[in-house]
Order: sequence, then structure tokens, then C-alpha cells
Amino acid sequence: MQIQAKRPTPSVEIIDTPRERPPRPFQLDKLTSIPFFLVHIAAIASAIWIGATKTDIIVCVALYYIRMFGITAGYHRYFSHRAYKTSRWFQFVLAVIGGSSMQKGVLWWAAHHRNHHKFSDMSEDIHSPKQDGFYWSHVGWILSNDYDHTEWDRIRDFAKYPELRWLNRWHWAPALIGGAILYAIGGIHWFVWGGLVSSVLLWHGTFFINSLAHVWGSRRYPTTDTSRNNFWLALITMGEGWHNNHHYYQSTANQGFFWWEVDFSYYILKLLSWVGVVWDLRTPPAHILAGKEPVRESMTDAVSDVISPPVPPAALPTA
Ligand SMILES: [Zn+2]
Ligand SMILES: [Zn+2]
Repeated sequence: MQIQAKRPTPSVEIIDTPRERPPRPFQLDKLTSIPFFLVHIAAIASAIWIGATKTDIIVCVALYYIRMFGITAGYHRYFSHRAYKTSRWFQFVLAVIGGSSMQKGVLWWAAHHRNHHKFSDMSEDIHSPKQDGFYWSHVGWILSNDYDHTEWDRIRDFAKYPELRWLNRWHWAPALIGGAILYAIGGIHWFVWGGLVSSVLLWHGTFFINSLAHVWGSRRYPTTDTSRNNFWLALITMGEGWHNNHHYYQSTANQGFFWWEVDFSYYILKLLSWVGVVWDLRTPPAHILAGKEPVRESMTDAVSDVISPPVPPAALPTA
């Protein structure tokens, strides 16, 4: 049964929304959690065992940021928020790069993210540190077997592409193929540093936006959630650390709203727009920058109900 959301009155204060349901049941999903913990152990043990060359570190950092771009510009700004437009082939490329970060399927990710915006920090929000604690918001919800399904209702707009449904189903494929390529080119050193270590860092770098970015930082806009702006998180996530900006106005290709708010995902998107790979990058209008748009429910609903218009349920996949 769907619990009806009680949206708090907008205010500059962070409003305490009481829990409207019992604590979430936490049962580890074996298919997700065993590889998750094994990769952590393997990354730490093998990194210590084989050590690192200068090239290993460069490969590790490069693959961290390339795949972070797949998550931020792809999974997040494009698939979740449709903050810009691109071709079908490049949307597939973004989904593959994002997929290689082992954060489950693109449609699964984007659908759950739309849910996060619709219910930010309310009891229906599936990864709110305010509702369910830091650990739950960071990794608990991902490792739980309760949220492993794709919420097709929230991602109808992209579910119509068979290649995306395929990637969503076989979401381990890009990482497995990528790992094999790394091993073929650079042997065990590239596999460990470019694959295992880089992936562990990438997991936590990304997950910090669900956990730390709702706890640590400043609040420019009076959103009805706990989202924060944080320079350090923006550096490690290529711009996603401007999370309060983003919660205030979600549909923009840039999340750093001012020149001093570093946002490398946006800089790359801008470069790609100059060569015609992406286009129609949405940016915040002046009254948004000035914080003059009152916080209201429709700003949040826009990401889920408007851009994912109703289609007959029979047209949606079941798995
Ligand atoms: Zn978002
Ligand atoms: Zn958030």
C-alpha cells in the first residue's frame, strides 16, 4: 500500500518529518552484497600485495573520473533528469560507461533516483539519512533485497528502448568486459588498480551524495529536505556536491550554479555540445539563481510524473 506523502510547508528551516512507517527491514541481497564485499576485500588485499606504479595510479584516477562522468552526466543528469538531449547512440554510450561502475542498471538507478526527489527526506524516500540513518542511505538500501526491482512506472520514458532494457537486465556486463580488457592490456596491475580499487572509490564517491550531501555542507535554497552544497563532494563527484542547488532546481545540466562552483561534468557536457554530441543543455533561469522561486511540490514532481508520462502498463517490461 502506498503511503500518502505529507509534504511539509516550505521554510528556510529544515523541517523534521516524522517517520510514518516502521524501520526498513534489512535483509542483504546475496547477489549484490557478496560481490560488493568481495571486491572491497580483493581491492585492499591485492593493492597491498602488488603495490602501485605511477601508471597504476593514473589508470585508477582516470577510470574513476571517466566512470564518474557516466554516473553524473549519464545516469543522473540525463537518464534521471533529462537535463539535456543527445542521440540514441550516445545515450547508449553513457549507459555503458555508467554501467561499468557497477551501480546496477541504468533504468533501475534513474527510477530510484526520481523517487528520491519526489519524496526527498520524507518517509517514502528510500535513501534518506534523516529517516533511516547514515549507513542505510550510504549503502544499506543498495545491498537490501527490498529495492532490487526496477520501478518501471518511474522510467517509462527510457524503458521503451530495448538496448537500455537489455543493459538494465545484464548490468554486470560492462564491468566484466571492462575488467577483461584491463587485464588484457595492463595485466594484473591494471585489473587491480583500474578495476577493483577504482571501483571501490567510485562506489563510495557516488554514495556520498546520498549520505554526506544530505548531512555535511551549506544550504543556499530553502528546500524541504536536508540537501547541502559541499565543495569537497563536488570535487570528487564532478559537480554533484552542489546538491542543495540540485534539489532546489533539478532539471539543469549544471549543478554548480555560479562560476566558483566547480562542476566538471557540466564543463565536459559543454565541450560535447560544441561538437554536437549533446544539445539543449538546460541551465537555471535568473529567478532560480536568485532563489525567488518558492519551493513547492510541483518542482519535485516534475522529475517523475511529467517527464515519465503514463503509458499502458502492458507496454512495460515485467522484469
Ligand atoms: Zn537528482
Ligand atoms: Zn538528494
